Amino acid sequence: NTSQPRLPSFLKHPIPKGKSYTEIKKDLRGLKLHTVCEEAKCPNIGECWGGDKGEATATIMLMGDTCTRGCRFCSIKTSKAPPPLDVHEPENTAEAISRWGLGYIVLTSVDRDDLVDGGAKHIAETISKIKQKAPKILVEALTPDFANKDKKYIGLVASSGLDVFAHNVETVERCTPFVRDRRANFEQSLEVLRYAKESAAANGKEILTKTSIMLGVGEQEEELHDALRRLRAVNVDVVTFGQYMRPTKRHMKVDRYVEPVEFAKWKEVAEGMGFLYVASGPLVRSSYKAGEFFIKNVLN
Ligand code: SF4
Ligand code: SF4
Repeated sequence: NTSQPRLPSFLKHPIPKGKSYTEIKKDLRGLKLHTVCEEAKCPNIGECWGGDKGEATATIMLMGDTCTRGCRFCSIKTSKAPPPLDVHEPENTAEAISRWGLGYIVLTSVDRDDLVDGGAKHIAETISKIKQKAPKILVEALTPDFANKDKKYIGLVASSGLDVFAHNVETVERCTPFVRDRRANFEQSLEVLRYAKESAAANGKEILTKTSIMLGVGEQEEELHDALRRLRAVNVDVVTFGQYMRPTKRHMKVDRYVEPVEFAKWKEVAEGMGFLYVASGPLVRSSYKAGEFFIKNVLN
């Protein structure tokens, strides 16, 4: 059975607009940066790239376009042995970002279970180079779980100078084996978030931690409450909720389309539990307008 619930009108993509959108798009061509915003045709690009350029957010993908894992919701290609890392990527990325003049950069990456350090040194080097060249840019790293690697690699990224350490649990514990790659698990992801904050603090660095949850993959209400409680218990500061959208027919089905009013409810619930910031809505992605919010309210 391939039947899927019908796409509701609130999920139809808005048309990109905003005063700096065209300018950012033009800059990008000269900089040789690959943004997830453009390549994944993110529906929020008009909002993230519109408005004031100094508060704009973009997401850059590091470590290539091939992942060693195969999560059932993700359209990235998979291989056991992706090509080696580009050793010039940290320097070139930092140089391009510092010239670009955006306020907030999210660095994300594929999972590289094939590398001894999972790519931690590469990510940390990119962050510290960005901060050397452009200290005012706020940097969020959306990291892998570094499963079966030495924990020091989580610490390396967490203490690299970033402002926000993000790692996505993606869904509630029960749904994790059906949604994420078999090497991922909920407890392990909680531990990544806990250890990131603890190890950064031990190095005298105060960072925010952040995670994202997709709704519409089969989760139950009580399971979401449990996930939020456990995230708060390890001091996660920020949570986002968005609708799971099936990238192709080969990916897992959407269980249901969640109404905007339910997203509003989860925002209220999470805020009531003490999360510092919550973004929740059908089209929200983990990096949704992060710059505008963090620059105005939290980090300055
Ligand atoms: Fe880019 Fe993320 Fe904003 Fe989408 S939500 S436009 S990927 S920064
Ligand atoms: Fe996609 Fe990340 Fe899963 Fe790799 S680990 S398949 S990039 S969601």
